[in-house]
Amino acid sequence: MDSSQFRDAAHAALEEIIKYYDTVADRPVLPSVAPGYLKPLLPPGPPQTGEQWSQIQSDIDRVIMPGLTHWQSPKFMAFYPCNSSFPAMLGEMYSGAFNAAAFNWICSPAVTELETVVMDWLAKMIGLPECYLSEGEGGGIIQGTASEVIVTAVVAARERIIRRRLKDMPEGEEKLDKAAEMRGKLVALGSEHAHSSTQKAAMIAGTRFRTVPAPPEAGFRVTKEALRKTIEECRAKGLEPYYFTATLGSTATCAVDDLEGVAELAQENPDIWIHVDAAYAGSALVCSEYHHLCTPMQHFDSFNFNLHKWLLVNFDCSAFFIKKRRDLTDTYTLTPSFLRNEYTDKGLVTDYRDWQIPLGRRFRSLKVWFVLRSYGVEGLQKFIRRHITLGEYFHGLLVGRKDLFTVVTGPAFALTTFYINPTRPSAAVSSSPANTPNPAHEAYTNDFTSDAEAQYREEANRITKEVYERVNSTGEFYLTGAVAGGVFVIRVVSATERAEEKWLERLFEVLVEYAGDALKRDVK
Ligand code: PLP
Repeated sequence: MDSSQFRDAAHAALEEIIKYYDTVADRPVLPSVAPGYLKPLLPPGPPQTGEQWSQIQSDIDRVIMPGLTHWQSPKFMAFYPCNSSFPAMLGEMYSGAFNAAAFNWICSPAVTELETVVMDWLAKMIGLPECYLSEGEGGGIIQGTASEVIVTAVVAARERIIRRRLKDMPEGEEKLDKAAEMRGKLVALGSEHAHSSTQKAAMIAGTRFRTVPAPPEAGFRVTKEALRKTIEECRAKGLEPYYFTATLGSTATCAVDDLEGVAELAQENPDIWIHVDAAYAGSALVCSEYHHLCTPMQHFDSFNFNLHKWLLVNFDCSAFFIKKRRDLTDTYTLTPSFLRNEYTDKGLVTDYRDWQIPLGRRFRSLKVWFVLRSYGVEGLQKFIRRHITLGEYFHGLLVGRKDLFTVVTGPAFALTTFYINPTRPSAAVSSSPANTPNPAHEAYTNDFTSDAEAQYREEANRITKEVYERVNSTGEFYLTGAVAGGVFVIRVVSATERAEEKWLERLFEVLVEYAGDALKRDVK
């Protein structure tokens, strides 16, 4: 493809992308293809000679479109959003054009320096304590995903505690043996509702993992007392807790751990690395009404949030902030001769390869820069607040039909979770799940120990699953469920760029209809 062919192809692709965005709401959000649909649509091998772009592009409609789940649709209310935007797409295009591997500063100084600047902008914008800025001992780096951030933090935490414990031992076999012995005793901790990435990271790090209880009566969040108890239990068994993921916005219910309580424990336990995973909810910190959540972070070690979830920067873009960058570089700096250069040797520059697991890195800061400049802080605040309001609106609809729905959590950062009330209320009903507005965790303060309560829960689970599966089977909306406090809940989070009240109204209509049908069938 030469320059002139690229111009024509790019224009044609652009037109198609714009049309896609303009019509995405008209499509069913879920595809109706069966597994394995794609292979028969393509030849068994690549073409022997090159094809024209027009031929290639036409296969987007024929091959790709039928198998897409439309994450940019306003009817996508599953998981958490994965928002893109036009400025971010332009950032990706330039990044693809410059295509630097940019692991050392000299490999493309603009890549490193823009990243440092935009990460400082972000830190200031979300109200992170100053210790996370690059002017001091901290700084930020962009990684692909929260999972990558967490494994990077967990391995660095493991190495940090080993360095600290064995600092007086001379280098050699004996020290290596001691370090290996220590690793087997190390335990990474995370809320029972922390994302599975913490467990995976502990497994990759070759250490143990243990959950900290975050029961319904605690609002599904880890309290200081629960964390302290878990730490003490580990120590009593001769194990050493070395890392804890505090969650700011858990995946199932968007619960926020007791960050202030955790900060107190952090000060008593300086060898436990505290990382805050705010993968989704962290974007809300652009709004000043959430800045108080950042205050305790001065006592933690690191923090991340995914701009590709809720802040209009397309996948992938997870911002990772570290209070003491040496905690990363002491672990990850390995400089074979082929990576040496005068700037690195003189210590004049940041080489982001020393902060991360891979060597090569993409020019992701461009898309962040474009988005920050195109929307401005106020534009991003408006974007987030619109979704918070939509979450409150949907919660209000549910509460208006207490006969059908019980809200379990939220609205929290635009997410509400709920279940369908069973038809044959048991004795438990009168004493339990009254629909309580935010926070609605009281719904679970009763322990479901009696048979009647267990039966109530079982019926609620069955009907809720039935309604949930029927909604997704039509493809009009896409929702996800979760188990919270032993109860199956439907999660609704409407936070895509094109989200609007009218889609939540329509979803609510559908839910009322399907819940009514399920309950009628049950009575028969
Ligand atoms: N942490 C939390 C709280 C999440 O909700 C998610 C995904 O939704 C993740 C981590 C994993 O994100 P990623 O796909 O960026 O690894």
